[in-house]
Amino acid sequence: MRAKKYVLSEQDMPRKWYNIMADMPTPMEPPLHPGTGQPVGPEDLAPIFPMNLIEQEMCTDRWIDIPEEVLDKYAIWRPSPLYRAYNLEKALDTPAKIYFKNEGVSPAGSHKPNTAIAQAYYNKVAGTKKITTETGAGQWGSALSMCCSFFGIECKVFMVKISYDQKPYRRLMMETWGANCTASPSNETRAGRSILEKNPDSPGSLGMAISEAVEEAVADDDTKYALGSVLNHVMIHQSIIGLEAIKQMKMAGDYPDVIIGSAGGGSNFAGLAFPFALDKINGKEIDIIAVEPTSCPTLTRGPFAYDFGDTVQMTPLLPMHTLGHNFVPAPIHAGGLRYHGMAPIVSQLLLDGIIRAESIHQMETFKAGLTFARSEGFISAPECNHAIAITIREALKAKEEGREKTILFNWSGHGLVDLAAYESYLRGNLSDHELPQEQIDNALMDIKPLPKPRQAT
Ligand SMILES: *Cc1c(COP(=O)(O)O)cnc(C)c1O
Repeated sequence: MRAKKYVLSEQDMPRKWYNIMADMPTPMEPPLHPGTGQPVGPEDLAPIFPMNLIEQEMCTDRWIDIPEEVLDKYAIWRPSPLYRAYNLEKALDTPAKIYFKNEGVSPAGSHKPNTAIAQAYYNKVAGTKKITTETGAGQWGSALSMCCSFFGIECKVFMVKISYDQKPYRRLMMETWGANCTASPSNETRAGRSILEKNPDSPGSLGMAISEAVEEAVADDDTKYALGSVLNHVMIHQSIIGLEAIKQMKMAGDYPDVIIGSAGGGSNFAGLAFPFALDKINGKEIDIIAVEPTSCPTLTRGPFAYDFGDTVQMTPLLPMHTLGHNFVPAPIHAGGLRYHGMAPIVSQLLLDGIIRAESIHQMETFKAGLTFARSEGFISAPECNHAIAITIREALKAKEEGREKTILFNWSGHGLVDLAAYESYLRGNLSDHELPQEQIDNALMDIKPLPKPRQAT
């Protein structure tokens, strides 16, 4: 019988994370202090993050040991299986070979625990008693809640209000894992109160929720803040996905020509792609595609600039592709893809031509999700459907060109807690959102252009 999935044992699990900052063609621009505009030092970040994670954020070592306690928790669901999508290939009648890495097997249902475990662990070691964070649709909040419970840390999640009201199930997952979940904007912080004063009916946004979580962390020495994407240390932790996939593709006797991931803050895409991107930096030909929604087109329409990570401008300025910290995207169902910015590393690699970006409308993503569910069975998170839609486009292009090519995409999570989104699609209640240039221009008026983006020569 032919192999359908490639499974590694616990013994095969990578023991080190990969840090692409050691190999980038252009060094990263530093984050800037929101007050002084000078590059931030470790002590500037100390009120928000524990020092061990700050060191990792600024580290340029290529390989970083994964602590034993983290490996021990990873073993609950890792290594995750790699699948050959024979049934999808057949449904598309394509000569392309399609593989996907299944990150939906974690208890929280997505790739996010890969970094949540590590962040909870490093906070525990540093003596943190409580972690605050924000969450949109709830994937990050639920992942962090679970991992804080593993390490005996209190967890407080500010959840974007519209999701808090519309999506009770991940909120209940958070509570089941022992976390405290509050709708944002809330009355509990100055940032929340100032937003509510101007707009009492604000549906909230990730940028607002970050402001609240950061404020609460800064106010107390034993409380730190955790971010589920965007930052360098998150990209490092997620590299376990691609490192496993390299071994599994070897087992399959294949190597990807095309690598695809959905990109919100960029972490699941980076996790799968960066260990392969090292080969590309060293001369191998690989097409590496980050996929985002057309209604939040950070990489495809946002400039590379210094911008805040949050609405109330408390975080350092990050060098990244951004739509402006005041940008509020249309309420599409892929809540994890509605962030105004993008990981600085992903942004820099786009400038350097190591990766490219595509954007896609919501309706095509759900259509792709149905094609996938009706061939491979798994029901995907709406975010993940973005990667599937571009995979299908690439597979159909291969068919047109009569070329065999190997496509690998990241199945970042299951959609079993997102079925309300599928209901909207199946009942015909969804549509595509056009994003007028004027709306982007307005949001961009509030950001600081980068002096001159450095680019690889
Ligand atoms: C959060 C999330 C994303 C987007 O976040 P990234 O940091 O870009 O990976 C994508 N897919 C799923 C299932 C998610 O939960």
